[in-house]
Amino acid sequence: MQNNRQKAKNVTKKYYSKPYPKQHQPYPGLDKKMTPKPDCGETSYVGHNLLLNRRALITGGDSGIGRAAAIAFAREGADVAISYLPVEEPDAQEVKKYIEQAGRRAILIPGDLADEKFCKKLVREAAKKLGGLDIMVLNAGYQQYSIDIEKLDTAQLERTFAINVFSMFWMSQAAVPLMKPGASIITTSSIQAYKPSEDLIDYATTKAAIVAFTRALAKQVAKRGIRVNSVAPGPIWTALQVCGGRKTSSIPTFGKDTPMGRAGQPAELAGVYVLLASDASSYTTAEVYGVTGGNHTM
Ligand code: NAD
Ligand code: MG
Repeated sequence: MQNNRQKAKNVTKKYYSKPYPKQHQPYPGLDKKMTPKPDCGETSYVGHNLLLNRRALITGGDSGIGRAAAIAFAREGADVAISYLPVEEPDAQEVKKYIEQAGRRAILIPGDLADEKFCKKLVREAAKKLGGLDIMVLNAGYQQYSIDIEKLDTAQLERTFAINVFSMFWMSQAAVPLMKPGASIITTSSIQAYKPSEDLIDYATTKAAIVAFTRALAKQVAKRGIRVNSVAPGPIWTALQVCGGRKTSSIPTFGKDTPMGRAGQPAELAGVYVLLASDASSYTTAEVYGVTGGNHTM
């Protein structure tokens, strides 16, 4: 019997824990060009039919956390539509390949979430092509560091709010009428909602708004049988971080200030998105699930 026991892994060493090489890409960046490449569970996630024949839409499903959710959902038996920016096509094509390898349908819908018309069209098109909509993961996000409020550019402020906050309203307006009881909406907030960094003042404010949005929408749609929850990641190794999300000089120590002493990988969030999307969390709504390496949200 003992030979069959699954070996527990040392979580401090389970994923990359060395200093990250300094690197920069123009926004929004590609997983393909990162060193090391974020681990989105491509070779590790094993599904158990927890989302069999569900239909999911994931924004920012090309890379990072959204890609990890897309791969996991497909391996759990879901058909998956992803949105992303047109320049991210190479990453999106890789995700398409993983979804199809899992035997599921992959639908790619590129476009800019700062545009209300696109947001609404995205939801309608995804629901039409998937034949319905059971799960919507609002995961796309925009983060640019800025150290001085006097120099914070209004164009950046507006773009950060449009992508991180307004798009959630527009997409939910289109999705809720299409969703049936049992559907699940999952937003992606951040530890920044609770412990904002001084140089992410606009981004952190949007992430706090996402928490409020999640809780308020959950209350609005509970009677329709729709659940709304949020995942609040801590430092996770993704393209967002190397495209102006932080100072390049702070890349090598990224995640070192967590109790675990390392940044997380997108793969370490996949199970939480699956849980919140699945029936296993049927009494969970208006909640925020932290995945922070120990720095906790509240
Ligand atoms: P990522 O860069 O891999 O994913 C973000 C995605 O957002 C991009 O792939 C892109 O497709 C999408 N996006 C950005 N601007 C867009 C626009 N205008 N139109 C359409 N799509 C757009 O990085 P990630 O870290 O996986 O980010 C996913 C979510 O996780 C974001 O909401 C981010 O704020 C959140 N988050 C990340 C961390 C972290 O440390 N990486 C921590 C907390 C929260
Ligand atoms: Mg991307």
